[in-house]
Amino acid sequence: MTDYLDGALSASDRAKFDQHMQGCDGCRAYLAQLRIARRLMGRIASEPVPDPLKVELINAFRTWKAG
Ligand SMILES: [Zn+2]
Repeated sequence: MTDYLDGALSASDRAKFDQHMQGCDGCRAYLAQLRIARRLMGRIASEPVPDPLKVELINAFRTWKAG
C-alpha cells in the first residue's frame, strides 16, 4: 500500500494492485485514508503545529487505527 503511494511498485505489481482496488471497497477506503494521513503528516513535518491540533490529530489516528 505505501509502496503504491510511493510509486515503488513494479509495473506488474502495480497492475495487480489496481485490479484489486477496482473490486475492493475496503482497500480503496484504506488507501484514501492513507493519502489523507500522509498529507497531514507532511504538513506536521513542515509547519509548527499548535499543541491542541497535535492532540486532535493523534486522537484521530488512534480512532482510525482502532476502527
Ligand atoms: Zn482489498
